[in-house]
Amino acid sequence: MNIALIAHDKKKQDIIGFSVAYKQILSMHNLYATGTTGKLISEATNLSIHRFQSGPLGGDQQIGAMIANNEMDMVIFFRDPLTAQPHEPDVSALMRVCDVHLIPLATNLAAAEIAIHALDRGDFQWREIAKMKRDQSQ
Ligand code: PGA
Repeated sequence: MNIALIAHDKKKQDIIGFSVAYKQILSMHNLYATGTTGKLISEATNLSIHRFQSGPLGGDQQIGAMIANNEMDMVIFFRDPLTAQPHEPDVSALMRVCDVHLIPLATNLAAAEIAIHALDRGDFQWREIAKMKRDQSQ
């Protein structure tokens, strides 16, 4: 599965803790992240992560493009709901495109815990079927 990891600045420590705690599960998947988030997670865990641009420089949009292409299976996005973001339109667009394409999106630690356990149980295997159907129709 392809998994995107993103955290706003005040949530960076949360996503590092989350990634350390679930390193074992995450290591079985292809990981993508916005620039700074990816750097911090890979430093803390040694996990291999494809890093896009930093969020304010377009990283959210790059992840959004993967979602629109049906190439992302889950998004873990620790948003900071108490701080205005310069790239708020990108944040909204990313969440919107997840809803358009039915991509599981966890926007806080509590939801991410549920999502990662579901991933580990195989609850998102239907994504493989969705991707197979897409490939057949192309
Ligand atoms: P960053 O971007 O990982 O490069 O800090 C995250 C964001 O603010 O969207």
